Amino acid sequence: MNNDNLLRRSLDAVWHPCTQMKLHETLPLVPIRRAQGAWLEDMDGHRFLDAISSWWTNLFGHGHPRIVAALREQLDTLDHVMLAGFTHEPVVALSEKLSALTGHELGHCFYASDGASAVEIALKMSFHFWRNTGHPGKNRFLSLAGSYHGETLGALAVTDVALFRDAYAPLLRACDTVPSPDGRLAGAGQTPRDAAVAAAIALEATLAENHHEVAALIVEPLVQCATGMAMHDAEYLRRARALCDHYGVHLIADEIAVGCGRTGSFFACEQADIVPDFLCLSKGITGGTLPLSTVMTTDAVYAAFWDDSTARGFLHSHSYTGNPLACRAALATLEIFETDGVIAANRRLAAQIDAAAAPLAADPRVAHYRHTGMIWAFDANTDDPLFARRFHQEAMARGLLLRPLGNTVYFMPPYILGDEEIELLVSGTQAALDAVLP
Ligand SMILES: *Cc1c(COP(=O)(O)O)cnc(C)c1O
Repeated sequence: MNNDNLLRRSLDAVWHPCTQMKLHETLPLVPIRRAQGAWLEDMDGHRFLDAISSWWTNLFGHGHPRIVAALREQLDTLDHVMLAGFTHEPVVALSEKLSALTGHELGHCFYASDGASAVEIALKMSFHFWRNTGHPGKNRFLSLAGSYHGETLGALAVTDVALFRDAYAPLLRACDTVPSPDGRLAGAGQTPRDAAVAAAIALEATLAENHHEVAALIVEPLVQCATGMAMHDAEYLRRARALCDHYGVHLIADEIAVGCGRTGSFFACEQADIVPDFLCLSKGITGGTLPLSTVMTTDAVYAAFWDDSTARGFLHSHSYTGNPLACRAALATLEIFETDGVIAANRRLAAQIDAAAAPLAADPRVAHYRHTGMIWAFDANTDDPLFARRFHQEAMARGLLLRPLGNTVYFMPPYILGDEEIELLVSGTQAALDAVLP
């Protein structure tokens, strides 16, 4: 009864994200009462394994005691202060720690609260850098086919998802897409690396022709997540870095989803041994507790804005830029990486999950089973347009939160799954497949 009441009030008062609200006339919202570890619990006490880390944000489980303790302490000390003209220990310490993680190559952090804003900042900073250094004509951006960088107007302009873009096309600045290095595009007898090299050759052709007008290339390193967990060989990033250097174009690494250990290294770019000009982080950086994003950049970019002229500075802000609570949660998250040896532990956990998921890889209903770090994905052999919704419901009925992207089923679990949770992840997926594709 209580439940029905909450659902009705939610439909009346709350406009939910990325949703045709009418759908919830027939498909009830799931009211969540509490969350602990890898589990969400609804109002009736049903539990769901959060196998997509609450939209890829939750790294160490819900209610992690060390993040909670840090937040409690911070709340008692300094909840918030504006960051223009003021500073505080959590934002300084976090910036220093992040800088150190890049070997101080990206030593300057600019903050916002969500991923799309970080992308906006990187795009604006790149353009403004070229303007400040005498190249105002470099005002275009390149992104990959199937890219996703967020849904504010600037970020949507470099997002290649028709469903999100088409309605707003008249509002968006035209951007150019270059071919994706998606390993699934490798032809017969080719490797994913061959697909990466082919995409890099296409990138070179575009840059050779247009580099005078191009400020930056933006990429999701190693995994294009939102458009179906398209994974690519690190060779693409190495070549893209070299091409951007050669043609005088910035490389923006959008690590909003793939950063914070998700691909097997703290930053995905490490696996290509490259440093981008801008690196965007968000989602996992606070361990899934509070909104925070940052754009990290180089001494060269920072120096191009350092001037007596106000207008040559980066005049961008958000009310909660550098919020102390969010920074403190991020510091606690980074501390867990250090003290718990998370990257090495994830290597063992990933091997265990991969072994358990072997039957899925061999399932005749499954194509392109793939895995990078703590991300697994496969494409279900079906052209049922309702596959994603039906699979989601069948998995939920088995206590498993999965939310396919089209016909791509993926796991993006918190880094803390135990044996029983891994077993549910695989058996629940198989059972949901049995129900939807008997
Ligand atoms: C989620 C995401 C964004 C947008 O972040 P929001 O916090 O949802 O605005 C941008 N880029 C990538 C790669 C993402 O996965």
